[in-house]
Amino acid sequence: MQGVGFRPFVYRIAIKNKLTGWVQNTNENVLIRVTGNETDIALFLDSLQREAPPASMIEKVAFVATEPETFIGFSILHSHNVSEDITEISPDIAVCSACLEDITREGSRIDYSFVNCTNCGPRFTIIRDLPYDRDKTTMQPFNMCPDCREEYETITDRRFHAQPTACGSCGPHYELHIAGNPTNKGIREIIGQVSAIIDNGGLVLMKGLGGMHAACDALNDTAVAKLREVKNREGKPFAVMFRDTGSLLEYVTMTKKEEQSLLSWRRPIVLLNTGSGTARKVSCNVNAGLSLLGVMLPYLPFHHQLFRHLKTPAIVMTSGNFSSEPILTENQVALDQFTQHMEAIVLHNRDIYNRTDDSVVRIIDGKERIMRRSRGYVPAPVRTTMNSDGILAFGAELTNCFCVGKGKKAFLSQHIGDLQSLETTLFYEQTIDRFLQLFRVKPALLAVDMHPDYISTKTARKFPGVPLVIVQHHHAHIASCMAEHGLDEKVIGVALDGTGYGDDGHIWGGEFFVCDLVDYKRITHFDYLPLPGGDLAAEEPWRMAVSYLYRVFGNEFRKLDLPIFRETDPEKIEIVVRMIDRNINCPLTSGAGRLFDAVASLLGLCQTATFQAEGPMRLESMVLPDCHESYPFNTGPVIRFDNTIRGIVHDLSLNTDVKIIASKFHNTIISAIFESVNAIRNREGISRVVLSGGVFQNKYLFEGIIARLRKNLYNVYAHAVIPTNDGGVSLGQLAVASKRRENKCV
Ligand code: ZN
Ligand code: ZN
Ligand code: FE
Repeated sequence: MQGVGFRPFVYRIAIKNKLTGWVQNTNENVLIRVTGNETDIALFLDSLQREAPPASMIEKVAFVATEPETFIGFSILHSHNVSEDITEISPDIAVCSACLEDITREGSRIDYSFVNCTNCGPRFTIIRDLPYDRDKTTMQPFNMCPDCREEYETITDRRFHAQPTACGSCGPHYELHIAGNPTNKGIREIIGQVSAIIDNGGLVLMKGLGGMHAACDALNDTAVAKLREVKNREGKPFAVMFRDTGSLLEYVTMTKKEEQSLLSWRRPIVLLNTGSGTARKVSCNVNAGLSLLGVMLPYLPFHHQLFRHLKTPAIVMTSGNFSSEPILTENQVALDQFTQHMEAIVLHNRDIYNRTDDSVVRIIDGKERIMRRSRGYVPAPVRTTMNSDGILAFGAELTNCFCVGKGKKAFLSQHIGDLQSLETTLFYEQTIDRFLQLFRVKPALLAVDMHPDYISTKTARKFPGVPLVIVQHHHAHIASCMAEHGLDEKVIGVALDGTGYGDDGHIWGGEFFVCDLVDYKRITHFDYLPLPGGDLAAEEPWRMAVSYLYRVFGNEFRKLDLPIFRETDPEKIEIVVRMIDRNINCPLTSGAGRLFDAVASLLGLCQTATFQAEGPMRLESMVLPDCHESYPFNTGPVIRFDNTIRGIVHDLSLNTDVKIIASKFHNTIISAIFESVNAIRNREGISRVVLSGGVFQNKYLFEGIIARLRKNLYNVYAHAVIPTNDGGVSLGQLAVASKRRENKCV
């Protein structure tokens, strides 16, 4: 991978161990030739694996003894044959500890916020083109001063060939704007003023690595409420940046694995539990009272500098934009849009070329699972076993990512977002162009979702004459997980999510397939129910609750005593019943997410969602891990939950604790999945099970079903490095297209 300082590192450890020889990049690997005595070579090999630069990833070291040869010194050989084909760019890397030390003591880098070295700093966000040279980055306008130049050219220096290297006398700078006017302040004054504003409850917009952040004190209810108003973001949880792991432990619990992810050079947002047992709470406006909080640690020098002055240990760090629009990157747009809303705007004069959001991960079943793949992860490719060269897969509609194939590598885009605003669609189209250019891919085959009205599907029309493969949404989900694990055979696929266009024209989302990468057979599915109001029903979970109640109890449902009747306008409920009776705007859905919505509504947890999947998230946060009861359900050609709903209503009539009902419901879903899979195995003799879809972001459900399947000797495959939500769908589209092309069925 370019830009992680691997060859200089090899050079340094070779010299340290008194070895002579050379190192060279090729398309496929790094070749190293060393001569020396056995002990030194052993030490060298040891260092090679244990001290490698943080962002480099050694897949395998192959070691061959050859005839001795004499070299003079150790050199980095010029790489031929590689310039056009090396298309692996490092993701952005959090500032390293050596650089953080430099800003406390090193001459022109004292207090310098853009410090970086070969082990850290911006990469993808500043790259315009390959090969990765300063001239092709947004550092191009900054001419290195003689000191920086010398370090850049000194092979033993930590900044040898560090393309974005800079110091206070030659690099970019921060600028503070108050009330729309630039102030002429140095970084110390900026940090002082910005931290004072935040500590006093003010809002600040600050330009970062992949875009702008809107920030405020995460402990201050009024400040967080004000930020919500500005962003027009009713309930969606905000991420919080903590000063360090010590301070965050007063607010959340953390396992060793979670800590590793938090501290990794990728510095993602990690979803942690705000459990009992923690002494303090962030403002309840931050995470809508959920038991999960998105937490991250400082990753830019500026963040560290800020926390040295801030009194608060925690600040909200949410994307600087109005909700539904992509994260802002342009200085002028930030000033135009946010001056009237923010006490201060902090900008800098290094352009952001590739917009990235903060990535989001959650540790489930002891492993890091990516929920949103962007900064720190993109554009590292996914290595697959199939040839997807020239395939462009457009992804889904919500939580979109697209994907381009080059050889056996799949390059997934950063998180694009919901293709429902003009700005996001423009970002989508622009990023497609940039990926094709950056990775030198000329589209030879396109892969799109089956939904005819998706913006992503329509965008494929911009490539007239290129053949097109149409992939069913849930088949793409399963194929995505298969591609992640290198599977190419018949599997049992379980795809559970909110919505996806089915090949019968209904809205799918509770699907059990027997499939391979080419095709699928739908064996069973969650039962169809009317979805009153279509898309609106996803925002108003009470509609699905009415749909279920009406199905199960008929007209008698009105006599039940349920929270939904106290929390919803009775007239609206009657309208929904009439819509169902007359089949007006009531498409059929088998979406598992809608069942979770319905139960969240029945339990009075969420009648109207203020953010995507609020109902299911509230339901999950109620679960008691020690409850093992469940409700009845029926499997077969369709999986019916009528008796589950009956059981829930009965429990409600007995005033059973909502937490127990939520737990029993989760256990029911786990059993329904397990029994359905079992029936398929008994008939088809397949014991590989592939799980995908947004529902598997639910930790309790995920761990429950995995444990149950493993105990019964299934080989279970689920997502880790690719999102299980719609952010992973494009990889599946790519895999299906590749396989169909191989089989000559496109
Ligand atoms: Zn560094
Ligand atoms: Zn300099
Ligand atoms: Fe989906």
